[in-house]
Amino acid sequence: MKQIITSNAILQTLNFHKNRFNAQFVCVFDLDDTIFDTSYRRFYIYGKFLQKQYHLPALSLYIHKNHYNFITLIENTHNFQENRSDIVETFYNLFLSDSFLDLDKPFPGVRTFLNFLHILRIPVIFLTGRLKSAMRISTYESLRKYGLISPSFKQEFLVMKKNTKKADFEFKKRELKRIRAVFPESRLAIFDNESKNCSVFSETYQDTIVVKFNSVQKVNRPYNGLLLNHWA
Ligand SMILES: [Mg+2]
Repeated sequence: MKQIITSNAILQTLNFHKNRFNAQFVCVFDLDDTIFDTSYRRFYIYGKFLQKQYHLPALSLYIHKNHYNFITLIENTHNFQENRSDIVETFYNLFLSDSFLDLDKPFPGVRTFLNFLHILRIPVIFLTGRLKSAMRISTYESLRKYGLISPSFKQEFLVMKKNTKKADFEFKKRELKRIRAVFPESRLAIFDNESKNCSVFSETYQDTIVVKFNSVQKVNRPYNGLLLNHWA
């Protein structure tokens, strides 16, 4: 059932189950558009490498903030249709490189939320479709720069894709299985902005708390579960 939840209510629920039932939790977070607002990265790449080169319509930062998938906004234009595969390939090559990651900003309140988890001694794992080979160092840097990881954070708690063969939901489903094996006593709480991923997680693991962070998504589709609009 669809239900709006607040970050406070999530923390209270975790704390209550810990105190009352001695339950242990592990929290798993997606990065792009869950922890980090990637609209600045998408806006920059589109404006600097696509718009003028391919004579595409200008798209404001505001538009990028409300649409992950800019293709749906320009797909009827002649110039996009003529260069579709070049444009898409250029975008993803740049988006999945480490060159522009420093443009990302964490969503307001996310740092405080992660700090509370730290206080509650709940381990945090980042599970992202970002490519390990190209983006690990920069990803680590931005997590550290914004105070999103504690000094005791273990390297293996940043789980990244090794290649692009698998869709995000397949990759994440496999990695969640591994995470559950590492923490057999713990319940998982998973946070992701893609409805598709959230649906797969909640169908696969019934005892898991799945929260969809309501920012943008690659494919717009509804999610029938817990929805979080703001971290703050
Ligand atoms: Mg995401």
